[in-house]
Amino acid sequence: MRTQDIKPKIAGEARFPQNVVQFLCEVHELIEQGDERVTTSSDDLIQAEFAYGGLLEDGGDLFSFIYFPQEGIQSTWELELSAADIAVIAKNQQGTLRLWGCCTPGCGNRFGTPDATCFDCDDIDDERDYKRQVLEGLRGCRSQEDWVRQYLRHFPDAHPLQIIGDYNGETQLPKSWGCFSLAEMQALVTRLHNEG
Ligand SMILES: [Zn+2]
Repeated sequence: MRTQDIKPKIAGEARFPQNVVQFLCEVHELIEQGDERVTTSSDDLIQAEFAYGGLLEDGGDLFSFIYFPQEGIQSTWELELSAADIAVIAKNQQGTLRLWGCCTPGCGNRFGTPDATCFDCDDIDDERDYKRQVLEGLRGCRSQEDWVRQYLRHFPDAHPLQIIGDYNGETQLPKSWGCFSLAEMQALVTRLHNEG
């Protein structure tokens, strides 16, 4: 990825939404149990309806999560938390979080570090332009399923929540064909991958 113009981010604080607190309680339990989902490094071994993530490095205790604060909207929060942070939030049933955001009006993305790159606002060219082109190309699709099939040809490793975000970002599609639940998208992605 060729990174050109990363705009400064503004620091802010956010209270953990209640569903995130609940999610982190579950993660804390997995950590206590030594579950393999929290001892194996991954991007997405830990899953919920509105978030996914995993352990950053084998043997480490830092976790990274992608959280979708609003259903059906593309904005994401990137959270980076240690096992100790998660334990404190689980114990207190609440917490605040330092997050950085863009200056761009309307950008709902939030990041765990000030030097993060916003996929929507920063000029990260190749990757974003490519995705825009692909999404434009997919506007000729005839059905929901066809759209997802074509999408997966370009982004075979995309997470189902990411696919839903991109699908909903093309506002005409949910209007015409309706929205996906996570379960529906997971089932469709599995079926299409098996079709090969
Ligand atoms: Zn942004």
